[in-house]
Amino acid sequence: MQKNERNNKKMELVTKKPRGTEDKLPKEIYKWHTVEKIARNVAEAYGCKEIRTPTFEHTELFQRGVGGTTDVVQKEMYTFNDKKGRSITLKPEGTAGAVRAVIENGLLNDALPLKTYYFTRCFRYEAPQSGRLREFNQVGIEYFGTASPAADAEVIALANDIIKSLGVKNISIEINSIGCPKCRAEYHKALKEYYSQYKDQLCGTCLERLDRNPMRLLDCKSEICSSFKKDAPMILDYLCDDCREHFENVKKRLDVLGVSYTVNPLIVRGLDYYTNTVFEFISNEIGSQGAVCAGGRYNGLVEEIGGNSVPGLGFAMGLERIIMVMENQKLEFEPEKKCDLYIASFDDETSIYAMELVQKLREEGFWAECDISGRSFKAQMKYANKIGATYCMVIGGDEMNTKSAKLKRMSDGTETPVTLDDKFCEKLNTMILEIV
Ligand code: ATP
Ligand code: MG
Repeated sequence: MQKNERNNKKMELVTKKPRGTEDKLPKEIYKWHTVEKIARNVAEAYGCKEIRTPTFEHTELFQRGVGGTTDVVQKEMYTFNDKKGRSITLKPEGTAGAVRAVIENGLLNDALPLKTYYFTRCFRYEAPQSGRLREFNQVGIEYFGTASPAADAEVIALANDIIKSLGVKNISIEINSIGCPKCRAEYHKALKEYYSQYKDQLCGTCLERLDRNPMRLLDCKSEICSSFKKDAPMILDYLCDDCREHFENVKKRLDVLGVSYTVNPLIVRGLDYYTNTVFEFISNEIGSQGAVCAGGRYNGLVEEIGGNSVPGLGFAMGLERIIMVMENQKLEFEPEKKCDLYIASFDDETSIYAMELVQKLREEGFWAECDISGRSFKAQMKYANKIGATYCMVIGGDEMNTKSAKLKRMSDGTETPVTLDDKFCEKLNTMILEIV
């Protein structure tokens, strides 16, 4: 490589974001605010409290809590040694960290069920494509301390409520039960037997899965492997009485709540710790990465991570994918805020007065702006236009001395005289409301 070329390549590392990551820019951030606000409101209506856990954890947590036979742990984790040689991993999902945190902080000794929600970035080394990133965002829910099917139904209803409150249509909910370790042992045997006949055609990963975790075979995305699953034995035929009853109860409750679903016996979920109910929310409008939300029950996880035997369940919703669906359906996001008032000035003295006014207005909750760049009057007006200020007010020597000025409505140029006294905020507020 030529020196120049090498330098260009090096500079690219400085100026280009890593593959599979995204900048969420100011001009589109209102979409994120809408989704986050609605998800938060719905979660809190169900009694969930927010939990924030570290972006990185000890690698061992994910090996144990996500499971050594999963794609996430085997292929997708961002793992590195820190300066003391400890193995650290950027979290690929939110559940393991949340479980670690509730155990470590003794939250499971308080009133149960404990209901938590979180917003988190996740990191997975995957092949980037539309809807599949290396850094992405999720809103997640985790419930602890209830084994009742009522909780499964409530968690699915919660996810459904977020989707509905966002106005998203055409999402199908698919549910399944993958039983408990007891019924799964029989099922694993049957799966192994069935897939053994295709041993010479399975992909390398699936050959490994056949030995270590045969249920994961149903999850393989390769064309050949997935073509075998239609005749594979179904877990629902292997459920023990308790698991069957549990699943029936969940379905009954969803029916009563008016949550429509279909049973898809092929849903097994990519992560190791699930038991009983598992579910996915699917959109068919955003290409092959259609799962916008996925979750289920994980009765064995808390114990696996060193806590008492406390059942849990939850889900994670991919925010990038949800926003893609919303954009595709041309849904309304909460409109971007607009600058209420821009105060233009002429010289140092009037600019200081403008700054004082702006400060007062901000304290009252208005979005007010004045010049902080030393611009000419003309350039200030141009800027006020560019940022889309609703009103503009010019402060010259006269206005400053008489404490009276004119509010100019930028949309049509209408001017209204105002007095810059105690009542000014009230007046401005009324005039803004008039427009809306
Ligand atoms: P997929 O089958 O699409 O790989 P997954 O089973 O790996 O999904 P989960 O671990 O259940 O996904 O994560 C929950 C949700 O997070 C998914 O339903 C999806 O909306 C979102 N998600 C997962 N991986 C990505 C990614 N790489 N980029 C963007 N969103 C993702
Ligand atoms: Mg995946």
